[in-house]
Amino acid sequence: MKKGISRRTLFKGAPFFLLQGCALVSSKGMNKSDMTIFPSYEKGTFKYLSSPETRVIHTLCLGCNARCGIKAFSRDGKIETVTGNPYHPYNTLGQPISLETPLEKSLKISGSVCGKAKEISNYVFSPYRILMPLKRVGKRGEGKFEPIEWERLITEIVNGGRLFSHLGEDRHVPGLKDLLSDESIDPDAPELGPKRNGFCFMTGRLQHGRKAFIDRFVKYAFGSVNRIGHTDICGLGFRMGNYAFTEGEAVELKADPWSAKYIIIFGANVYEALQPGLNTYGATLAKRARNGDLKFVIVDPRAQKASAHAHRWVPIRPGQDGAFALGIIRWLIENKRFNRQYLEAPNRQAALELGNGAYVNATHLVVWDENDPRHGKFLRLGDVSSDVSKEEKDHFVVVKKGGDELVSYIEVKCAELNVDKYIEDGEGKRIRVRSAFNIMQEGVFEHSIEDYARFSGVDKETIEEVAREFSDHAPYASVCQYHGAGNYVNGTYAAYAVAALNALSGSLGRKGGYITSGGGLSSWKKGSYDLLNFQGKRKPRGIKISREKADYRDSTEYRKKQSSGEKTYPATRPWFPFTKGGLSVEALSGIDTKYPYPITALFLYFFNPVYSIPGGNRFKATLSDPDKVPLLVSIDIGINESNIYADYIIPDITYAEGHYGWLSPHAPAFKFTAVRTPIIEPITPKTRDGRPICLETFLIDLAEAMNLPGFGQNAIPGKDSRVYPLKQAEDFYLRGFSNIAENANLRCDDTEAIEFVERNYPVSKYKAILTKEEWRRVCVLLSRGGLFSPYENCFWGEAFKYGPKRFTIYNEGLSDTVCSITGRRFYGSLRYVPPINQGDPDFPFTLISYKQALHTQSRTIWHKVALELHPQNFVLMNQGDAARLKLRDGDLVWVKSRSNRDGVVGELRTTWTIRPGTVAISISYGHKGLGASSLKIRNAKHVMLGGETVTQGDIVISDQSLGKGINPNELSDLDYDFGNTPLIDLVGGIPDFSSTCVRVEPV
Ligand code: SF4
Repeated sequence: MKKGISRRTLFKGAPFFLLQGCALVSSKGMNKSDMTIFPSYEKGTFKYLSSPETRVIHTLCLGCNARCGIKAFSRDGKIETVTGNPYHPYNTLGQPISLETPLEKSLKISGSVCGKAKEISNYVFSPYRILMPLKRVGKRGEGKFEPIEWERLITEIVNGGRLFSHLGEDRHVPGLKDLLSDESIDPDAPELGPKRNGFCFMTGRLQHGRKAFIDRFVKYAFGSVNRIGHTDICGLGFRMGNYAFTEGEAVELKADPWSAKYIIIFGANVYEALQPGLNTYGATLAKRARNGDLKFVIVDPRAQKASAHAHRWVPIRPGQDGAFALGIIRWLIENKRFNRQYLEAPNRQAALELGNGAYVNATHLVVWDENDPRHGKFLRLGDVSSDVSKEEKDHFVVVKKGGDELVSYIEVKCAELNVDKYIEDGEGKRIRVRSAFNIMQEGVFEHSIEDYARFSGVDKETIEEVAREFSDHAPYASVCQYHGAGNYVNGTYAAYAVAALNALSGSLGRKGGYITSGGGLSSWKKGSYDLLNFQGKRKPRGIKISREKADYRDSTEYRKKQSSGEKTYPATRPWFPFTKGGLSVEALSGIDTKYPYPITALFLYFFNPVYSIPGGNRFKATLSDPDKVPLLVSIDIGINESNIYADYIIPDITYAEGHYGWLSPHAPAFKFTAVRTPIIEPITPKTRDGRPICLETFLIDLAEAMNLPGFGQNAIPGKDSRVYPLKQAEDFYLRGFSNIAENANLRCDDTEAIEFVERNYPVSKYKAILTKEEWRRVCVLLSRGGLFSPYENCFWGEAFKYGPKRFTIYNEGLSDTVCSITGRRFYGSLRYVPPINQGDPDFPFTLISYKQALHTQSRTIWHKVALELHPQNFVLMNQGDAARLKLRDGDLVWVKSRSNRDGVVGELRTTWTIRPGTVAISISYGHKGLGASSLKIRNAKHVMLGGETVTQGDIVISDQSLGKGINPNELSDLDYDFGNTPLIDLVGGIPDFSSTCVRVEPV
């Protein structure tokens, strides 16, 4: 088939990107039996198509948040197995089959998935899944519940009342309806917003699709600002580095593993975790390293599995990634081994000519005069000349290369890099100006390479050798940083320095460099259906309970202190004007201290903060206190360490049953919109009108009971001026799919795709929601699991087409931000800021945590095979340290910290593959919930999916194997300065995973 012909027939007026390789095959010319490939096709060719009843669905995994594609096989409501979707780049090391490949042919091709994905059935059908809505019948946290009828559940949550008086709780529980008021939540502090903000909805494992649905309810129908994500515990540290480096434009950047030649990997567990997952990113590194195309260096206190293939393992001291990066940067500058030509390019056009899609602001001048109100701000053309147009006024200013002339940054292709001089501004005032590079260099040169070696615990020679190798491979030398690189107090500056290495090598915005993803291929938001807007849509306003993106200086608290002559600093708790956000830890600390206002209703969605937050145990007291959390509701699939405190638990469905969604790639590279659809029908019971009990049904019914806009009969405006209903999940998601298909100009006569989807996909039963034509287009989208564009389409030659166009080694916004605790401005460039762990003779080891390949954070404890292979975790310690303490492999040991002096007991595993002075404990074990402890639930056998296998009368019998091992988060240090809540970084609100000091004693 000629490519051009099929593409023209598939996409009517297809946009350019689609013509670049996103076309789907025409089924013309295939006979009927070719198309009824499923099941007649399978005999002897595909072992999983074992019967005519077997269904095949291309959808997305959520075994972890890497969300690779999957080709799922189901039969009779059970999942037989999953393999990788060969159309998806994440299952094929970045080289998927073309979307034009017929479905029939694709069935013979299996992409790769990791071991976690294969446990889908163990997860979905865990006997400890709950099936019925529950209401608490004991004290919070006691683990006593009873099923509650759906209509009553909705009424009680909406209206409140004396809901627990039969338990002796003499209080009126506020209902959600009580919060539907535009009066100020604190009349003395109107900036905090309306009473609606007393509703806080915290999200754990959230995906695009459901995120839009939840935001629709919380923000735009209810009108609360408090939909709080969990970016902080997910890896805010490295994201803050990128946030500073890109002026907040993008936080997801990584080394391009498909074309890089040298990658320094900071705190990213590439063979066991990461996004894209180990079967994508890690496997690509392994393959290219084996072929000699790539060298990679692992910077990690623990020799993670990838160290076996690494060019080097650098066993860095925990929390000192910044010192190591700064040592390299200093060496590169001193030895003139950085990419000067790239840094001298003052604008994007100049960078493009060098093969980079983005430039660095290294040459841009900054006013440096403490007596000038512009101190720390970029010099603008309007500052030095009045003879400029309105547009030119705000242009940055550079010194033309080889001279003294000040010019607009867009006027020249090359500018002076290292500038520190006095100039006359437009009004004749003499001011000092410095280039961003000059300021950065000063910060870097505050310490010698010897100092950086001492701080990081990496010898000077290694720093120099890595720096030399990095320089040798430039511009194909970049870094991959993740959770470990900055998730600790002061991690913003560490991750900023790590990210800035890419400026020195010139790898920004280019193939083999430090890049974002290419984004999505087609939008769900608008098309025939407007899924963003609706009549009565609210604009949430006010300050989030986490104080993210809010400045303390704008608060009534600050103004009151100021006018009364009180000391304005510190604020009661930190505020975070300069952050990516998603501050779940600080939100819970705010709830605990009712600061800046008390909340009334807290919903937890797939979120287990007590288990997953370092020091999360601290929040048991918060969640169990009805004064701090008057109404606590959880939406989840099981009863965990956090929702055991809930007043109500709403059983949800898993990703196999209906976490509909549309997802774009993780960094780096690629451009796609992948879609998630159910593999099987939901296994939760149905409401009276036949909808499955799940998140969406719950929110729709709450909304209808409160008459909120955007839900119910007249909810979704159509382009045709009609308003469509939102009464079930599919009303929303199918219209989102339809918009995606329509915006991509997918054809609607692909018979093979339509037959494939209608025969195999459970979602087909909702096809009447769409017009015939819309549904047919959606079938084309669903049949391949989304729309995917090849890697090469992300580049013009070497230059990356997408992502930020400018990177900053001096950040004006950061320099302009005042710390709400100290009252001092943050430093606007690279600088060594030591971690708070300065050693403690009583607690001589530093604790770190990590993930294993077969586990994610918490829910994978239901993965039976993983549990059989690794029934518990261990306390990893260097053999030399163990010998000094006279401890041996297999000993039971106490691990104690300053904040947990009672400690936890674990089994010691000694190894040479961990830095001396460090103790590592993997996450995922040490559960108290999710089946690890018994519960009392009325009618338990009908509540638990395992029925009588896990219940005895009203008792849910625990499975001790689910509770084995220890949870390192139980040891994490708390902050004594702020009410013993978990430690956080004052710039971005990063929780601390690497500063806790512990001691290890024999049991
Ligand atoms: S890495 Fe594994 S568990 Fe995670 S999404 Fe990919 S296949 Fe699924």
